[in-house]
Amino acid sequence: MDIGAGITTGTAELREATRMERIGVHSHITGLGLDDRLEPRPNSQGMVGQLRARKAAGVILRMLSPSSFSSASTTVSTAPGLSGRAILLAGPPSTGKTAIARGMAATLARLYSLSMSKTEALTQALRRSIGVRIREEEEVVEGEVVEIVVERGITGSGKSGRVILKTTDMETVYEMGGKMIDEMTKEKVLAGDIISIIKSSGRITKLGRSFSHSRDFSLLSPSTTFLPTPSGEILTRRTTTHTVSLHEIDIINSRTQGFLALFAGDTGEVAAPLRAQIDVKVGEWREEGKAELVTGVLFIDEVHMLDMECFSFLNRALEGELAPLVVMASNRGIARIRGTEMRGPHGLPPDLLDRVLIVATSKYAPEEVRQIIKIRCQEEDVEVGADAEELLVQIAGEAGMRYALGLIAVSQVVARRRMKNTGGGSEVVEVEDLRRAYGCFMDPGRSVQWLKEQQGSLLVEEIGSDIIQGQ
Ligand code: ATP
Repeated sequence: MDIGAGITTGTAELREATRMERIGVHSHITGLGLDDRLEPRPNSQGMVGQLRARKAAGVILRMLSPSSFSSASTTVSTAPGLSGRAILLAGPPSTGKTAIARGMAATLARLYSLSMSKTEALTQALRRSIGVRIREEEEVVEGEVVEIVVERGITGSGKSGRVILKTTDMETVYEMGGKMIDEMTKEKVLAGDIISIIKSSGRITKLGRSFSHSRDFSLLSPSTTFLPTPSGEILTRRTTTHTVSLHEIDIINSRTQGFLALFAGDTGEVAAPLRAQIDVKVGEWREEGKAELVTGVLFIDEVHMLDMECFSFLNRALEGELAPLVVMASNRGIARIRGTEMRGPHGLPPDLLDRVLIVATSKYAPEEVRQIIKIRCQEEDVEVGADAEELLVQIAGEAGMRYALGLIAVSQVVARRRMKNTGGGSEVVEVEDLRRAYGCFMDPGRSVQWLKEQQGSLLVEEIGSDIIQGQ
């Protein structure tokens, strides 16, 4: 069942798989566009105007991570000042609520989205947005390769055998399959190379250039044994960290699913006792200094689409020890709280509203609209003439910014067609192209008008009263 709200959480990888080829509507947003003192620059990182809201969002990020502005890749630890709090971006449609949330997520360098069923979806989303950074100590041996001795057919049939890797400080013996031997001897490790070997896994890295194909012998060839000779002197102890999300730990430990489910993307439901055990385990790791939490942002767009069950769940979840920063957005005023007969500001129940910090967004001035349009034209690689740009600003004022932004790509198609039909001219979008595109596609206002004119000839009107009751 779809819970209706678009939920976006902050952690790196997962959404790569679903990333669309086309340029996304927020792809121009690369941050909040603030300076070091959290002052919003008028036009920066794809962000224009909405100064107060951007600054407020920046303050929240600063609370979450004082260092999050110094480097885009900075990850964050827990935010005591924000635990149990949530942010509500409230404002009319197309006033940049989602853009601001994207800007926040971009600053934290993490983002992905999910839409799934009710509280399980929320639970997964919450746990996806909390990373666990696990520390591991590795013993590393470094040295120059002086000789590689390949002895095929010694340990098994066919081409498998032993590779003896002699470096200046140690002699290392790998027992491995023929393919691995080929790879290692043919092009990878040569006499004269400086390499490092991680003792626990046998992983070899050429310094300055990683082993390109098989980075980890122990993983790629389970039969490979790493037998460091006693002469191998440990030169370095290196701490490496892996960050996984709580959700990934859940899935890896789930008997019914296993880690392959992570690749399939369909991770189903996880039993509550398992999650509780994992929380205890992660707590132990933290106490032992083996792991730390990395908080992300859970973004719930159109939050008024959640129902009372979800709101109660969110309230409880925000009180938990492992809660991320939850950023919600709504363009509703006083609206019905779904699943109840009550109304509330932004469609939220009062107890949830009590714990949110509300950040308001407001309508843009024409100049700001113009700048956003310019940025989007650049992003979509569409050249628009000065008069057409002026018209787009007007259209945004009357028919909504989202509609105006949608016309950019469409009018380019129209301009190209004009060129083709007339056998010349330029591809720059002119007023005439924009007019055509405007005529082809209705904005929400015109579509309402058009529906009224249809006077019952459309199917949706017959079920219209049900839809209104069901809201
Ligand atoms: P809704 O309430 O309808 O969900 P919203 O407030 O979330 O609207 P957005 O989706 O963020 O609005 O904005 C509409 C479009 O305008 C998006 O393409 C967005 O990236 C762009 N946009 C909005 N505000 C800004 C801004 N301040 N700077 C740059 N681009 C913006």
